[in-house]
Amino acid sequence: MKKIDIKRLVRPNIRSLRAYNAKEIPCRVKLDANESPYAWDPRKVAEVSRMIKTNRYPDPEAKELKKLIGKRFGVKPECILQGNGSDELIYYLITTFGGPVLYPVPTFSMYGIISRALGERDIPVPLDREFDIHIEKMMRVVKKDKPKLIFLSSPNNPTGNCFSAEKILKLIEASKGIVVVDEAYQPFSSEKGFLPLLKDYRNLVIMRTLSKIGLAALRLGFMIADPAIMGEVNKVRLPFNVNSLSQELAVAALKDTKGLNAAIKTIVSERERFLREMERIEGVAPYPSEANFILFRVKDPDRLYRKLLKKGVLVRNMNDGIRGCLRVTVGTPVENTAFLKALSQSLK
Ligand code: PMP
Repeated sequence: MKKIDIKRLVRPNIRSLRAYNAKEIPCRVKLDANESPYAWDPRKVAEVSRMIKTNRYPDPEAKELKKLIGKRFGVKPECILQGNGSDELIYYLITTFGGPVLYPVPTFSMYGIISRALGERDIPVPLDREFDIHIEKMMRVVKKDKPKLIFLSSPNNPTGNCFSAEKILKLIEASKGIVVVDEAYQPFSSEKGFLPLLKDYRNLVIMRTLSKIGLAALRLGFMIADPAIMGEVNKVRLPFNVNSLSQELAVAALKDTKGLNAAIKTIVSERERFLREMERIEGVAPYPSEANFILFRVKDPDRLYRKLLKKGVLVRNMNDGIRGCLRVTVGTPVENTAFLKALSQSLK
């Protein structure tokens, strides 16, 4: 066979990248990926699936879905753009506007990974000691580097807190570029979020996902912003980016709000129980959270991670990004109790 050095063919910015780590690790209690522990009713899934015509392409505009989301959020369909997960929308935004791309760290890793994959300069700026935006440092970058895009995950993954609304506002006002407030975890938050500000700021984009509320399998995210922004981003969107099954299931599930809301309520109350009980375990320092997960500090996270996994409990080891920390997703009450038991046993 002809000898070809594939690595040499790859663009230099891709060569130095590492793939997003989404390995499947066998376990009994899966609390590593910020998913909901509650799936939508499988009988309803079957009912909707039966209607799908597999020989036809999906609706390229996802009209029904956008109409429904528009009604829910009080915006026109032309203010909405659908994505194959919000990951894809991050890709589209950076493809459309380019860099520099500014974001605080630690945060969701895809802002940086996608910037680098597209050959755009990314500027990560550390959060302050309270895990809030370090406004002086961020403002300095805004003035000096004039980022085309700023990504703010609020509530932030993996720290769990909302950033100060005042600081976010300052950035929106100071920036001549686009500010994306990624509200993936907003359904679990007690803060009101940034949707009401859309009418005042043309450079604001709100990003949401269905992944955290029991519909991660659908891969469906959307963003809401001024139609001028959506029109430009729509130029780079692949024509049939959201498949028919996902569109139909999302519409049906979003109409069935009773079940979704009940699940969110349970997760929020379990999160508070989690926090209280984790605080009682010696050697564990949990951080308060507005999301569906809790970040916690321990003495030896690598060892604890392995010990928990041995007991069948999978959490996320964050020791690379935030020294000394693990992140646990809120599961069902039974799963949470299993985690708490495994945690206290492992630390004995
Ligand atoms: N934004 C944040 C802050 C996230 O944590 C995640 C998922 N981990 C996403 C976006 C991506 O969500 P989706 O499943 O819609 O691609």
